Amino acid sequence: MTMTLNETHDPSLTSWVASANDPAGDFPIQNLPFAVFRRAGSNEAFRGGVAIGDQVLDLAALGDAALAFGEEARAALALAARDTLNDFMAAGPAAWSALRLALSRLLRSGASELPQALVPQAGAEFTLPARIGDYTDFYTSIHHATAVGRLFRPDEPLLPNYKWVPIGYHGRASSIGVSGQAFPRPKGQTRPTTGGSEPHFGPSRRLDYELEVGIFIGSGNADGEPIAVADADAHVFGLCLLNDWSARDLQAWEYQPLGPFLAKNFATTISPWIVTTEALAPYRAAWKRDAADPQPLPYLDYPALRDSGAFDIELEVLLRTAAMRENGQPAVSISRSNFRDSYWSVAQMVAHHTVNGCGLRPGDLLGSGTQSGPEPEAAGSLLELSGGGKAALTLPNGEQRTFLEDGDTVVLRGRAVRPGLPRIGFGEAAGTVLPAR
Ligand code: MN
Repeated sequence: MTMTLNETHDPSLTSWVASANDPAGDFPIQNLPFAVFRRAGSNEAFRGGVAIGDQVLDLAALGDAALAFGEEARAALALAARDTLNDFMAAGPAAWSALRLALSRLLRSGASELPQALVPQAGAEFTLPARIGDYTDFYTSIHHATAVGRLFRPDEPLLPNYKWVPIGYHGRASSIGVSGQAFPRPKGQTRPTTGGSEPHFGPSRRLDYELEVGIFIGSGNADGEPIAVADADAHVFGLCLLNDWSARDLQAWEYQPLGPFLAKNFATTISPWIVTTEALAPYRAAWKRDAADPQPLPYLDYPALRDSGAFDIELEVLLRTAAMRENGQPAVSISRSNFRDSYWSVAQMVAHHTVNGCGLRPGDLLGSGTQSGPEPEAAGSLLELSGGGKAALTLPNGEQRTFLEDGDTVVLRGRAVRPGLPRIGFGEAAGTVLPAR
């Protein structure tokens, strides 16, 4: 299904929330991403909210303003105002679209202002937007797979299945946290040193981030009934930022034969905002496959793939060390890439995941895998940027990093940008490394 554009995408729309009209902001009226929030430090119930400028529109505080909504939008609002978005996600694209249209009309310049329904984002705290039943991490950047493969297996960087199968593994839902997450450096086993016979045990010395896009499933599928690739986009509620923290030294020792385990499941950080696929419709991009590469098998191919299968989303990693925080220095950018360079599309991930009959549920989360671009500086992990820990990065304040140190905060950002269209931002996913316990 190719999402058609409608009046909510009109680039000329402005909002009575003045900060939403700042062209450098993440949340213009054409975005309208969803989160679950409450006032920071309060005992209020968490409830659904929509970002508009530097404010959150409180979906539980619209009061009489919702009486003007149509029946479908009012029903959707009741689901989206709950303490998790799962039921709203399950309601499907027609419900999501009806609520988006009603909120767009409510927030436009000229509509009655509702200051009582706004909470400043700076005064809000966020929780996970959904109960995430299952989390699956893919590996869809061929640039990342090749660079990392070269470090782990110089003789065979890219395994022969890569160009045929959207590779993934089942991750851990219990340790997913929202932006602001802090976690202790993981401990575990690492490879015996050269000449040694026993593994080392202790805190990881090669802790890394992974720059990924998170994909929230909307309406799922019954067990045993695959989602056809041409229908898969309609099962995706929206996208967020995702940091798949990784302990490379644990990973190198444990990953064969069954793949990542303790190297990955101690923490995963997502942004609070989910940008809907409807908001991203004007930012779809051509999906490209080198003519010399195998073309997708029929169950992974569909008419809209080559025309608009990809998403044009700029991604960025920033780092703020403890010393930078103490000196009042802001986070510095260390890497940029773009989700359009992914080897596999979101729809292909969904179709592949379900082709064997595996059921996906509303609120399930897929990770795209580390998004690295073709250029070396577009690497989505420190493992790549430091050449496997051999070449330290020098930060503007003179500090050096091969891997993360205690007190480091990693911030992911993302934005969809097109000339003549508003910037659709993702906010940020920030997480901090604490000392090992
Ligand atoms: Mn990953």
